[in-house]
Amino acid sequence: MLSAITTIRPALVGKLNERQVLRVLQSRGPLSRAEVARESGLSAPTVSKAVASLKGLGLLEEADATELARGRPAPKLRLATESAQVLGVAIDAGHCEVVSAGLDGALHDDTLAVPTPATYPELLTALERAAREVMAKPGVRTLGLGVSLPGLVDYRKGCGVLSPNVPVTDGHCPAVDLAERLGVECTLLQESHALCLAERHHGLAKGMDDFALLDVGAGVGLGIMSGGRLLKGRSGLAGEIGHITAVAEGGRKCGCGNTGCLETVASDSALAWHASRKLGRNVDVDEVIELAKSGTADLSAEAREVAGFVAVAVAAVINLFNPATVFIHTPLFEIDAALFDVVVEKARRRALPPSFADCRIVRAKGSKRQGAVAGIIQHLTDSVAPEVV
Ligand SMILES: [Zn+2]
Repeated sequence: MLSAITTIRPALVGKLNERQVLRVLQSRGPLSRAEVARESGLSAPTVSKAVASLKGLGLLEEADATELARGRPAPKLRLATESAQVLGVAIDAGHCEVVSAGLDGALHDDTLAVPTPATYPELLTALERAAREVMAKPGVRTLGLGVSLPGLVDYRKGCGVLSPNVPVTDGHCPAVDLAERLGVECTLLQESHALCLAERHHGLAKGMDDFALLDVGAGVGLGIMSGGRLLKGRSGLAGEIGHITAVAEGGRKCGCGNTGCLETVASDSALAWHASRKLGRNVDVDEVIELAKSGTADLSAEAREVAGFVAVAVAAVINLFNPATVFIHTPLFEIDAALFDVVVEKARRRALPPSFADCRIVRAKGSKRQGAVAGIIQHLTDSVAPEVV
């Protein structure tokens, strides 16, 4: 027993040191070994050992000396950005996006968009083809791929459970299947969780441990970051605010099979529905935004009505979770930036005053593709050593 403990412990300590070095470089950017030692509190030999291991995994690289600031000759370590990449796949109702990024999360400009096929096998084939295209860079190792999926995701199984807006994924495990086809590590995230990670690592929530992110798109999703951890519920199904009842009688049919759900009145598809009725033809939200921005159609009353229901969702989130900040991610504000103020004012009237006074409401900056990338980076980081052992 004693010998087992003595062999396990050094390995565990080594992994935790690697994680610490990784964290320092993630938060502080390129540093020399001496700077990493100073920032992490680890000894120089310990840092060297951890760096060698992380370089072996492909997570770190030495910055090219010619890139370094003049007069600072010490080689800089950084998260791999030239020798390795990760991929992000954002699955959505109309189309899916495949992107690549360095281990620092900075997106490359090689986004591929593919229309979302009508069957799961076609979806897998389309995603595999796009991913292989992005992976085909000489001298660049692809370390992993993150998939963001709308709807319910069972994290115990890594599978989609129920996606009213992309039902072809129901009961399927796209990350598991893509890992098999592509031969790289893949991870699946519910899209609101992906947006939370995007905002925390690359957006306006840096350093924040308690915030909520309301995603108003084709549906209404919610991500809660509480104490630095995503609130997932028993199996990952928490946060489905879009399917609470907002219209008790006579509400429209929702993708979940119920009627009058919040996302039938507070989503961009709700706005498209209003606009289609007004214009007498079917329009999608992209066209609605174009028509409204160009002034071709006056959809301000419809947009304000939808904004009013978004405020109901914001007030509910503030009352339920007491977050320090609520981020709102939505294309609605592209129609008219003043709609944001409408949402804030209406949320103020609906939320409990002490909770509202303690909370900021902010337009989100992150994207789902950034979230998919943040998801795989977190997965790879956790693979080195979990945060709590
Ligand atoms: Zn519903």
